[in-house]
Order: sequence, then C-alpha cells, then structure tokens
Amino acid sequence: MVTARPKVDTVYDEEARLRALQQLEILDSDPELPFETIVDLVRDVLKVPICAVSLIDRDRQWFKAMRGLAVSETERSISFCTHAIQQDTPFIVQDAARDPRFAENPLVTGEPGIGSYAGAQLKTKSGYNIGTLCAIDQGPREFSGAELSILTKFASLVIDEIEMREIATTDVLTGALSRRAWLRCAENEVHRALRTKAPLAFLMIDIDHFKQINDRFGHPVGDAVIREVAKTCDSEVRQSDWFGRFGGEEFVVAMPGTSLADAAMVAERIREAVMTLRLACLGDHTCTVSIGAAAYEALETNPELALDRADQALLRAKLLGRNRVQSTPALPDMASAAA
Ligand code: GH3
Ligand code: MG
Ligand code: MG
Repeated sequence: MVTARPKVDTVYDEEARLRALQQLEILDSDPELPFETIVDLVRDVLKVPICAVSLIDRDRQWFKAMRGLAVSETERSISFCTHAIQQDTPFIVQDAARDPRFAENPLVTGEPGIGSYAGAQLKTKSGYNIGTLCAIDQGPREFSGAELSILTKFASLVIDEIEMREIATTDVLTGALSRRAWLRCAENEVHRALRTKAPLAFLMIDIDHFKQINDRFGHPVGDAVIREVAKTCDSEVRQSDWFGRFGGEEFVVAMPGTSLADAAMVAERIREAVMTLRLACLGDHTCTVSIGAAAYEALETNPELALDRADQALLRAKLLGRNRVQSTPALPDMASAAA
C-alpha cells in the first residue's frame, strides 16, 4: 500500500530524521529477501550494474541491499545518497565526472567508477527521508521519465516493507512503543550510559483506579482514556526520550541524559497535565496517574534493576494516595525499606 507522505524539512531536522531511522531498527540488520529482490529487479529493468537500498546514518551510508559492489557501507561524506535525501524528487547525476560536486569523489575517480546516478527517496510516514533506492551506472547516461517512475515505485515498495516491520514495534491502541520495542530501546540506552557515564532515568506511569473507569463507562471509553493519557505523556517528554506502553494502563519512559531530579520534574509535569485533562467521554470524572521515577546506576548492565526501583516508587505513590510522583534513590537499603 502506498500512503501519502507529509513533507517535513528533512535538511534542518537531521536529529529527528536520524531518530526516525534508528527507531526502524534496520541498520546493521541481516540481508532480507524482499530488498534483495527489489535491487535485482531494478538492475534488470533499468539495465544498471549497481543498485542499492542505502540508508543514511549519521556518518555513513549503510546498504540494506546491494548489487554490483562488494561493500556494506561507505562514509556518508562521499555518498551520492546524502544529496538525494535533501530533496523529494529523484536525484539524478547524468555525468558524475563532469559534475563539480562529484568529479573529485573517490567513488567516481576510483572504484566502482560511478558515471551516473539516480536515487529515489525512502520517505517514512512521518515524512523523513531515511535513504534511497539508487541505480548506478559506470558511464554517463540519462534516465528516462519512465525509468525514474519505476525507480520511485520500487522505492515506495522498499519503505512500505521497512515500515511494515515497525507496526510490530508500535502499540496499536496508542502508537507508543510496544513493551518489547521499548525494552530494546531501554537496553540500548543502558549500554550507552554504561559507556558514556551519562545519566539515565526511567519513569513508570500507571493510571489510577482505572478499573473504576472501565466499570463505570465501559471498555471502549477505557480505551479512549488510555489513548488520551498516552498522548499527554508523550507530549510532555522530550524528543530524545523513549515512551512505551508497558501493559494495560501502564506506561514507561526512558530518559537519556537525565538525572533523577530532572526526571521527577518531568513526571510532575505529566501528572499535572493528566490531572487537568478534560475528557468529554468522562464527564466530570477526573483521571489521574501515579508515577515512579528511578535512575540507572553505574555498572548495571540491563534496565531491570532501575525498572524495579521505578516500580517500587510507583507502588509507594499508590500507597501514599495516588495522583503523585515518587522517586527511589538507588540506595539498596532505601529500595528494600520501601518494599
Ligand atoms: P490502581 O490505581 O491501583 O492502579 O488501580 P487500577 O484500577 O488502575 O488497578 P489495575 O492497574 O490493577 O487495573 C488495571 C485495569 O486496566 C485492569 C484491566 O481490566 C484494565 N485494562 C488493561 N488493559 C486495558 C485496555 O487495553 N483497555 C481497557 N479499557 N482496559 C484495560
Ligand atoms: Mg492502574
Ligand atoms: Mg496497572
């Protein structure tokens, strides 16, 4: 299915673009048949020796599929595709050796001796160009309108194939990360924190007395409340935070670069925002959340202990009367005292 892609400024929103790419979890993945088939088809139909599905990472272009060249990535600075993703129509270079942007490029002057290039963007549903499907020839050549149209259609097959995988990582009701996907992101962040010694905090958010909402208003209204609360939480956290639905009416946030005190402030903002939500489906019934915050501690190699601490803090928030934020400092005696 080919869906309309909104236009966003992919040039100036580089961090958001990289994040969109990262979230697809495709970089450094194994070769897969659908992409292999598409590059084969493009090579046959456009009669080019080289075709690739190229993804533009921060400093490199990485090939999900590649025909005609025995490399899995190149530096971004010399890639043609990095030019291609800055526009929304196919990017064409008819004669690289005579093009001042590429004449000195080692991919032109040396192996594989790129003579001409056509790249169709891989644009995500959120509007970011994460890479291209590109066709490369060794001499100068023109690409006809029909050829570019074929390339563009294959590019939309590629991005649809990539995004289909993402559906499994997204919670259907709220659009937040699924539990599984969130845990993977949290693990990555723990490894990064272990390496960089940067702070990392977690929030665990649970809707208060949610059973009453279901009982009084029915399950569909309960679903609508979960969706609205998720939207509110998501809008209060930063772009660099990972927001997930952990289970029923429970959400989690991983906050890289954030201290426990700052995380608790964000949690307080979320609590207030949810409390002041006015949902038509609930009449004058207010919905609140309790939140537990905890920080990753040096040398922990997975998010489990920090999540346990956040969970204990959440339990304390519930016991103290709900609609409140509690933090658990990482002292083991504090944690056991709270249990
Ligand atoms: P507490 O303040 O202690 O959290 O009370 P609570 O009523 O929220 O208690 P609990 O967390 O145990 O109950 C959550 C309820 O959420 C139980 C379950 O029936 C309901 N639930 C779980 N998933 C969904 C869902 O996707 N939609 C709806 N409508 N309800 C759900
Ligand atoms: Mg609850
Ligand atoms: Mg719950």
